[in-house]
Amino acid sequence: MEALRGEMGIAGVRLDDGQVLKADLYVDASGFESILVGEGLKVPYQSFSPALLCDKAIVGTWPRSGEAIGPHTSVRATDGGWCWQTEHETVIACGHAFSSAHLKEEDAERQLRALYPKAASIRVLKLKQGRYENCWVDNVIAIGSAAAFVEPLASAGPAVLAFACQWMAQSLVDGDRVVRPTIRKQFNKRWRRLVETERDFLSLFYKYNNRSEPFWSESREKAQLGDLEPVVKLYHELGPDSLHRHTLLHENDPLGLEAYFSVMVGQKAPWDIPFEPTQEDREVWQKVQETWRRKAESALTIEETLRMMMSAGPGPAQRPMGRAMQPVA
Ligand SMILES: Cc1cc2nc3c(=O)[nH]c(=O)nc-3n(C[C@H](O)[C@H](O)[C@H](O)COP(=O)(O)OP(=O)(O)OC[C@H]3O[C@@H](n4cnc5c(N)ncnc54)[C@H](O)[C@@H]3O)c2cc1C
Repeated sequence: MEALRGEMGIAGVRLDDGQVLKADLYVDASGFESILVGEGLKVPYQSFSPALLCDKAIVGTWPRSGEAIGPHTSVRATDGGWCWQTEHETVIACGHAFSSAHLKEEDAERQLRALYPKAASIRVLKLKQGRYENCWVDNVIAIGSAAAFVEPLASAGPAVLAFACQWMAQSLVDGDRVVRPTIRKQFNKRWRRLVETERDFLSLFYKYNNRSEPFWSESREKAQLGDLEPVVKLYHELGPDSLHRHTLLHENDPLGLEAYFSVMVGQKAPWDIPFEPTQEDREVWQKVQETWRRKAESALTIEETLRMMMSAGPGPAQRPMGRAMQPVA
């Protein structure tokens, strides 16, 4: 496939059989290939790799055979990266994201196989961490990994992709299906902020790791927290105090102060002012825990949830479009 340049950006796409397809607006959903925005338009790329060191991943799967479906993804640190296990209905997937400067591929694979002896269909992927300067350039909108990628597994990738699709549809409706530079500018600004929030959040895990191997100490030194710098500064003085949440974060921050504080408290990042809960605080906390315990006890199991989802009929994607998403007549 080849992207053809034109005055408006991309003039057409030549398929492998020679056929040329033309459109008014192109969506680049080609993953790491970035065929239109990268190869075609040569939009400058900003790599996050100086701060995020994992540049390769080894992935595998095995068929589920009676193992209970876990309610979460599990992650374990290794000396040159981290391994994960994700739960799916019929298969279990695993992977090892690592820095090739700190761990040889064969050692990364050996570690993965040791942790997940049933893993099969093993393959190696190159990770391209970073983002294009803009995702909407001329008549091309890049979405998902074609526009940006930050660390595997975070679930943030599909979320950013979904937001971009929603904004794209809404932008076209609001702009009467005309590509307007004003909308494009705001779209890019909003998208950049979302990707950078994702990067800064994941950098917290590296910044506050307490391992001693070269990969982890280098990750700690190089982590870039961007807009989270004032959040961590305040945390180091006061602890997880949410009094200034409205000035510390952007109005549309997708994660919220609790997400950042959870990582820092979880990683045992220290703060200056000692906190000693009063008797009243302890009682409130006990009540909160009790409420959560009761909710958890009455929750559905994963198997029950899956059965309900499978028997629920068409999901939101197949239902008729809401008013905001309907095509303009
Ligand atoms: C190792 C790894 C593990 C991950 N784990 C998780 C996870 O557990 N949970 C999670 O939420 N997210 C995870 N992610 C992130 C998630 O995979 C991405 O956010 C998501 O796949 C992005 O979707 P996409 O459609 O933009 O790109 P992709 O899924 O990469 O899809 C791009 C598609 O374009 C096709 N394509 C490219 N070039 C051409 C061409 N010339 N002709 C035809 N087709 C072409 C490719 O074959 C591919 O099918 C992971 C990512 C990686 C790399």
